[in-house]
Amino acid sequence: MNIITHAFIGWSAGVRISTRAGDIALITAASLLPDIDAFGAVIDIINGGEAVYFSSFHHKFGHCLPFCLLLLPVVYWLSRRNLRLTAWFAGVFHLHLLCDIIGARGPDGYQWPVYYLWPFSETGLTWSGQWHINAWPNILITCLLLVDFLRQAAQIGFTPLRLVSREADSVLVSTLQKRFGGRNEP
Ligand SMILES: [Zn+2]
Repeated sequence: MNIITHAFIGWSAGVRISTRAGDIALITAASLLPDIDAFGAVIDIINGGEAVYFSSFHHKFGHCLPFCLLLLPVVYWLSRRNLRLTAWFAGVFHLHLLCDIIGARGPDGYQWPVYYLWPFSETGLTWSGQWHINAWPNILITCLLLVDFLRQAAQIGFTPLRLVSREADSVLVSTLQKRFGGRNEP
């Protein structure tokens, strides 16, 4: 699935797992970090446009169990030794892999296998029923998650916009609370 859908999935899970902004950010990161291996595309663009690094590494070092296991001690430390949150991080990380297997077929029909045991195995996981990355199920899921995001923002009283501007975030949240209601509504 695309990065926007993954971000919404992570945030939606995060706000249900914890009310702390730092915890929600960690769970959102769990849903985004596998796609770190798509950054080969940036190098490819700099090198002139041929998708060499992207094709070689996408769905490999970010979308594998060893990368998840490397992250878990860091997450455990960042979450103040919260084993429950660390377990949720691993779960949401794997949800990203599952979402890619079921709904990330490329425009050219390529399935982009998930190399779960990379670098120890070059066996890629695929599913014959996989739909395209821009197919209607992904669009529907993303729209539903967007509505959920707006409703949850009204409830918890903040959005990721807070990282950029607290004032702008307050304006956005109060607008959403007028529309959806929320615990901070007077
Ligand atoms: Zn992915």
